[in-house]
Amino acid sequence: MKIGNYKLSIIETGTLGLDGGAMFGVVPKPLWVRTNPADDSNRVKLAARNLILENGERKILIDTGVGANWDDKFKRIYNLDQSKNTLFDSLKTSGINPDQITDVILTHLHFDHTGGAVIFEDNKIFPAFPNARYYVRKKQFEWANNPSDRDKGSFVKDRFYPLYEEGILALIEGGHEFEEGIELLEINGHTFSQQMVKISDSSKTLLYCADLIPFASHFHIPYVMGYDLQPLITVLEKKEYLARAVKENWIIFFEHDPEIVCATVESTEKGFSAKETFKGFPDDQQ
Ligand SMILES: [Zn+2]
Repeated sequence: MKIGNYKLSIIETGTLGLDGGAMFGVVPKPLWVRTNPADDSNRVKLAARNLILENGERKILIDTGVGANWDDKFKRIYNLDQSKNTLFDSLKTSGINPDQITDVILTHLHFDHTGGAVIFEDNKIFPAFPNARYYVRKKQFEWANNPSDRDKGSFVKDRFYPLYEEGILALIEGGHEFEEGIELLEINGHTFSQQMVKISDSSKTLLYCADLIPFASHFHIPYVMGYDLQPLITVLEKKEYLARAVKENWIIFFEHDPEIVCATVESTEKGFSAKETFKGFPDDQQ
């Protein structure tokens, strides 16, 4: 898919499982299980789907998946499955070497977004993309270094702090324009200072909405994750961005929906729902 000067490619990096109750907050299981079946441990399946934007000069990766170097206990708890896809394999399939990546935009620092940002060799940690500059919002970085007892399990420091130590992690404040046609949108419901990535030209807009709307089923406003630090802020943010998505016919790109890669949105009597869903980019579906 092309938007403006950028060629977009989907980068699948495997799947994981998270508790269905935590993924849907106050919504009763008989409702969410219809769209997101649970396994024996009540986990639902999540993709860890990233996006790459390429023009002549830049190769910009958005988020990095769960990554490698996890112990068996972690793999078991989160039902990590990278047998079909890994970050590096998917990049290779798209013809990209890690050293060609110029920029890595991290939406936030939860381990399922930053795990692939570093690699482990000989008990040492290195940036996975040695020639890239990484970007995260300053407030998110500060929170990730000093989270609450409730959410500290979501941040694994050795997956992002080494980038800071290397001096390659840019801490963004203010201004939203990343490059022409690429806007970073700050939201605060899920965690503090998450950033979504809006890619647009005169005819198309795609929103990489990260953990504001992890699955297509989260288009329903009350479907808010139990993980969210400020769930009522998530409600407001979803209403604001989904209204814009309807009005301007945005393509919503899901980082975590295991089946649906993209969708457009419509307003209904009950709020919002998917208008059309796609298992790839909309223009790849013929
Ligand atoms: Zn998250």
